[in-house]
Amino acid sequence: MNAIPNRKHDYEAGKLAKRLRHQVGQAIADFNMIEDGDRVMVCLSGGKDSYTLLDILLKLQAKAPVRFELTAVHLDQKQPGYDPDVLPAYLRALGVPFHIVEQDTYSVVKRVIPEGKTMCSLCSRLRRGSLYTFAAEQGFTKIALGHHRDDIVETLFLNLFHQATLKAMPPKLRSDDGRNVLIRPLAYCAEADIAEYAQQQGFPIMPCNLCGSQENLQRKAIKAMLAEWDAKFPGRVENIFRALGNVAPSQLADRSLFDFAGLGANAAAPRADAHAWLAGREPAE
Ligand code: SF4
Repeated sequence: MNAIPNRKHDYEAGKLAKRLRHQVGQAIADFNMIEDGDRVMVCLSGGKDSYTLLDILLKLQAKAPVRFELTAVHLDQKQPGYDPDVLPAYLRALGVPFHIVEQDTYSVVKRVIPEGKTMCSLCSRLRRGSLYTFAAEQGFTKIALGHHRDDIVETLFLNLFHQATLKAMPPKLRSDDGRNVLIRPLAYCAEADIAEYAQQQGFPIMPCNLCGSQENLQRKAIKAMLAEWDAKFPGRVENIFRALGNVAPSQLADRSLFDFAGLGANAAAPRADAHAWLAGREPAE
């Protein structure tokens, strides 16, 4: 009796899967994220984003013209209530190579952060440190992370509002310690699409808040602001994201990105005493 609704549902699900695969493929191509012979470590936290990332990369790998390896890596942080069997069972059924790295970052965070304060920032830093060290030791050439378009736009506003800097989260970068190249193949994907895909696929999601900590309140406020904007003006978040790839340094005010001083009828370097005069100071003797 419900054959027609099911067919419609399957059609919509197929469209969503296709859109996500297309967006991931496009991001990989645009930023040359994966090259022939790469050994890619896929960070699997157990949340919807990383499951989606692994799932789509495996599907693309099967059809890709270049050969690369994928290995799922999960960090068991020894949180209370964590079920150590969920991920291995899922990954074995999938037939994908994996490692579970065990490190008790939970105790460290509990010891260092006062009761009632949010622990996520230190916890993520420790998690990153452990995973990046593991990647370097194992010789992985790329680390794939599950951040998506909305994470990137939220980070842009966090930096804008709280750090007075115009920076977000790049689709590809070298880690601060220089040891690893990080890639974000979900950079073009909307969080709502990922959430829906994860639900359709029935991934065995493991919550990140077993530790009882709260998501960063400032990020939550920005998420709410963006959701409100997007409800009122559909496409606004997408436009903000696209603006990150469409930067005009000569229309901003960062003197390290554009040679404003060199602009002039006489292109010679401006004199130091002229600078002092413009700033309302007496020229130095
Ligand atoms: S919710 Fe808990 S496990 Fe997740 S990042 Fe925050 S402190 Fe770490």
